[in-house]
Amino acid sequence: MGKTGGFLEYNRQESVYRPADERIKDFKAVEIPFMEDNVHVQLARCLECGTPFCHSYGCPLANVIPELNDLAWQERWAEALTLLLATNPFPEFTGRLCPAICEAACVLAINDDAVTIRQIELAIIEKGFAKGYLQPAPPPERIAKRIAVVGSGPAGLAAADTLNKAGYSVVVYERAAKIGGILRYGIPDFKLEKWVLDRRIQLMEKEGVRFETGVTVGKDISCKYLRSRFDAICLCGGAGEPRDLKVPGRDLAGIHFALDYLASQNRKGTGEPVAVEDNIDAKGKRVVIIGGGDTGADCLGTAIRQGAQSVLQLEILPEPAQVRPATTPWPMWPAIRRDSTSHKEGGVRRWGVSTMKFHGQNGRVTGLNCVEVESRRQSDGRVEFIPRQGTEFEVEVEMVLLALGYVAISWDRIADDLHLERDPPSSRLSERSGPRRAGPQGNVKADENNLTDVPGVFVAGDMRSGPSLVARAIADGISAARGIITG
Ligand SMILES: Cc1cc2nc3c(=O)[nH]c(=O)nc-3n(C[C@H](O)[C@H](O)[C@H](O)COP(=O)(O)OP(=O)(O)OC[C@H]3O[C@@H](n4cnc5c(N)ncnc54)[C@H](O)[C@@H]3O)c2cc1C
Repeated sequence: MGKTGGFLEYNRQESVYRPADERIKDFKAVEIPFMEDNVHVQLARCLECGTPFCHSYGCPLANVIPELNDLAWQERWAEALTLLLATNPFPEFTGRLCPAICEAACVLAINDDAVTIRQIELAIIEKGFAKGYLQPAPPPERIAKRIAVVGSGPAGLAAADTLNKAGYSVVVYERAAKIGGILRYGIPDFKLEKWVLDRRIQLMEKEGVRFETGVTVGKDISCKYLRSRFDAICLCGGAGEPRDLKVPGRDLAGIHFALDYLASQNRKGTGEPVAVEDNIDAKGKRVVIIGGGDTGADCLGTAIRQGAQSVLQLEILPEPAQVRPATTPWPMWPAIRRDSTSHKEGGVRRWGVSTMKFHGQNGRVTGLNCVEVESRRQSDGRVEFIPRQGTEFEVEVEMVLLALGYVAISWDRIADDLHLERDPPSSRLSERSGPRRAGPQGNVKADENNLTDVPGVFVAGDMRSGPSLVARAIADGISAARGIITG
């Protein structure tokens, strides 16, 4: 694997980004992919570790990382690509977006810096596109089975791709105007330029997947109709319902959910029409983002690019440790403070702060009343936030963005139409590794083949697991497709 002893010879090269003062002038990708020479050096660092935790423990898709690295090290790029695509249909998404749980589980990371697995994955897929290895490959034969996939985020795309390649006729129904789910409307261009998504969708169309946009299942067409026309349905509707902050003043204008804000910018970015009431812009405003996670960071980078006067990001939890705490030892995903590229571009972060109320003038928000809090874990696992006396403070704002995660699926209509059973709240919180955003509450219940309690109805992605990651959504979409194929 790689060069024997290469890890002793070469250091890990961290990701390279365009300079912050330059990149905030546009929405183009901030990361500069490694040059071929750098990839080669980084490949040399992969050990012959024997038990590759990156593959078996870290990667939700179970990418065979050591073998991939070995093929790429030998410059057998086409073979590396074939092997990568065998487990991950969309490495161009994960290669740009994945937090790389695999790197946290890399054996080299026990006492050295991990191999740059994500960058290598990106190099393999982009070389594949550049060399023309990725050509439309429709299935040689079609079988007489029709599948409806509802939702076109990474889970829906992965389910559709897997089923199509197996010869099924697949129609993907998407309520938005364009395909991609959060990849399209949530994640900003500076993390994923949308041509990357369009390139993949075009390929899938040429391979025979049919996409129907602007169709809300449960409203424009009923689940009953789908069940009568298709052999199986795969629900991939995402996590949906954002968590609200029900404090006094919440109804004031100028307080928005993060995803509405990000969707507005993403629509503008690709020239999609945005209604006046949906056009949310931070230009010249003092912005407060409530929620210290990745979605909040995406809002921060967007607000800076739009020309916000100032941006403050508030998190109710205490500041995480800088180094891996004993509670999350290797190979687990370390519970440490993470600074995204957006945090390097400006704004101020505060931890341990709770918002008590919003105030305003003429119906518009003009400020927040906050207090510092101490968090204490209760015996039942819940965290209680206790205000510190005398730490109350006010912030003046023109815009507030709520980035507090998600509470439940927004599929009541479909779930009710189909009488789908749901998980009890927070039942999927005990993942062995990797970042989780929020406690899911009542996702759609499914067995190990992603089959719900309704025959012929499968579910995948955030709708099944609660808010998670692109790589997990892809893995779950594949799992649902296999459930359909074998069921
Ligand atoms: C702002 C933001 C940034 C993120 N950044 C990252 C990141 O950098 N890396 C990472 O790994 N993960 C990230 N995530 C998480 C990741 O994007 C999600 O876990 C993933 O997109 C879930 O995929 P999905 O296919 O289950 O759902 P989604 O991507 O949410 O797609 C669901 C789709 O279903 C459609 N739909 C819903 N109801 C209907 C209906 N009734 N009829 C038709 N269509 C319907 C929706 O319009 C949507 O297009 C981020 C999430 C957010 C919100």
